[in-house]
Amino acid sequence: MSADAPRIYFQRAADQLDLSDAMRRLLLTAKREVQVQIPVELDSGEVATYIGYRVQHNNARGPMKGGLRYHPQVDLDEVRGLAALMTWKTAVVNIPYGGAKGGIALDPKLCSTRELERITRRFVDSIHDLFGPDVDIPAPDMGTTADMMAWIMNQYGKYHGFSPACVTGKPVDYHGIPGREEATGRGVGGLTLKILSRTGRKFPGTRIALQGFGNVGTFTARFLHDAECRFVAISDAGGAYHRADGLDVPGMLKYALAHGGRLDGYTEADRISGAELLAADCDVLIPAALGGVLTAANAATVKAPIIVEAANAPVTPDADAVFDAAGVVVLPDILANAGGVTASWFEWVQNRQHYQWGINRVRQELDQILGAAFEQVWQLAQERKVSLRTAAYMLGVGRVGKATVLGGLG
Ligand code: GLU
Repeated sequence: MSADAPRIYFQRAADQLDLSDAMRRLLLTAKREVQVQIPVELDSGEVATYIGYRVQHNNARGPMKGGLRYHPQVDLDEVRGLAALMTWKTAVVNIPYGGAKGGIALDPKLCSTRELERITRRFVDSIHDLFGPDVDIPAPDMGTTADMMAWIMNQYGKYHGFSPACVTGKPVDYHGIPGREEATGRGVGGLTLKILSRTGRKFPGTRIALQGFGNVGTFTARFLHDAECRFVAISDAGGAYHRADGLDVPGMLKYALAHGGRLDGYTEADRISGAELLAADCDVLIPAALGGVLTAANAATVKAPIIVEAANAPVTPDADAVFDAAGVVVLPDILANAGGVTASWFEWVQNRQHYQWGINRVRQELDQILGAAFEQVWQLAQERKVSLRTAAYMLGVGRVGKATVLGGLG
C-alpha cells in the first residue's frame, strides 16, 4: 500500500469536519520518521544489511502505538501510511494513544530464528532512545510474533532497565496477557456479527469468504465458526480453498497448526484461484492479509454485499469508490481490526500496574470498547449520510484535532 490511501480518506473526513488547511497539514505530517541500517551476521558467517523504519505519526492523544512489520515489501512510504492509520485507529476506539508503525524489509521465512533474533535486537540497539512506555510502543504486525516482542523488551531493558510496557503482544509467559493474541480476530468477528444484525441478516449460515489464515484470519475464522457462520472460501499465501456447503474450519485450523501454519496440501476442499476467492458468491468478504488487494481492476467482480477490512488498507480508494457506488457496505480497517491495539492497551496498563486481569475481563472490556466505537461510527454514518469509512475517519480525525487544539503548540 502507499501513504496516499489514508491521505485520501483523511481529506474526505476533513471536508466533512470543515478542517482548516493548516490543521490538515499538521495532522497529515508525521512527527518523526526514522530509517536505520541493520547490519547482522547470518548463520553462514556472511554479513547482511537490512533497512529498518519507524514512523511516529502523531502523539496528540498519548504515546504513539503501532506494530512492527517484517515483510519484503516494507518501505518508508508504506510505513508512513500505516502509521497514520494507527493514529486514526486509536482515536476511533478512543484509547489514550497516538499512532506509529515500523518495519524491516525482509522475508522472515528466509531467516533462521537466531538470525531473526539478531536482526530484532540490532534494530532495538539503533532505536532504543526513540521509543519506550511513554513515547512509542511497538507490537506485532505482519511477519512478527510474540517471541520477537520478548526480544524487544529484553534488549530495551539492557539500556533502560526492566520496562515490560515498552512493547506489547509479548508471550503470556513473558509479561504478555491472555487474550491479546486472539484480540484482532475476536474484534473482527464480533464486529462482523454487529454489522450483520444492523443490516437485518441472521448469523447462522451466513456465507463468508476469508483471505488470509495468519493470526487475524485464524482467530476470525474460529470466532465466526463458533457463531455458526459458514466459511465457503478460505485462502492463505499458498492457495485458496472452496466448499459451497461450508469448509471444515476446525479441521483447517488443525491442519495449519500441524503444517507450520500453512494449508499447503490440504485436500478436503476444491482449489480455486485467489481472484476467485475475492469474487466468491458469499455474504461477507473478509480480506485479512495484505494491503491493496481490492483495486479498481477487481472491485466489480466482488459479489459480497459486506466487506470487513481485517487487514490494514486492503481496499484501495478506487475500489472503495466502486463499492460506495454499488451500495456495498465496507467496515473500515481503523475500526474492524482495532481489537489488537485495544488489547495491547490492556497489556500496557497491566504491565504498568504489575497486575493481571484474566481472560474474561480482557474479553469483556474489549467487546465493550469495540461495541461502543461501532455504535458511534454507525450513528454518525446515518446522521451525515456518509460511508462507514468516512464516519470512522471523522470520529478519529475529529478527536485528534480536538486534542491538538487543547494541547496547543507549546
Ligand atoms: N499491528 C496491529 C495493528 O495494525 C496492532 C498494533 C498494536 O497492538 O499496537 O493494529
